[in-house]
Amino acid sequence: MYHYEMNEQVIKREKAAARELRQTRWWQTKIACQAKCNYCLKSLAKEECTMDHVVPIVRGGRSSKGNIVIACKDCNNRKKDSLVMDWVMAPVTEPLADQALHAAGLHEPGNQREKQN
Ligand SMILES: [Zn+2]
Repeated sequence: MYHYEMNEQVIKREKAAARELRQTRWWQTKIACQAKCNYCLKSLAKEECTMDHVVPIVRGGRSSKGNIVIACKDCNNRKKDSLVMDWVMAPVTEPLADQALHAAGLHEPGNQREKQN
């Protein structure tokens, strides 16, 4: 559903937008006090916080406040470009989630492993 060539441009644009967002007061406030990883709920120091796209850019997500959460480096690395639902639910319902992704045309095994941020 997202053509690859188009992705290249979109990814560039959204990564630039993410960098800009990182400079905003919104993000600085978000990570300034009692920041927590959105996934493992670990408390993070400001410098441990990474910006994570809930729906990854390569999956069509945007660098908007609604699509960005705090993640620790470990979770960010583990998650990479998988859909958060896919990743969080993986241990319990992987076959189901897989089927759902296939049905939605979102499952693209192995072709886009570009790291975000
Ligand atoms: Zn974490």
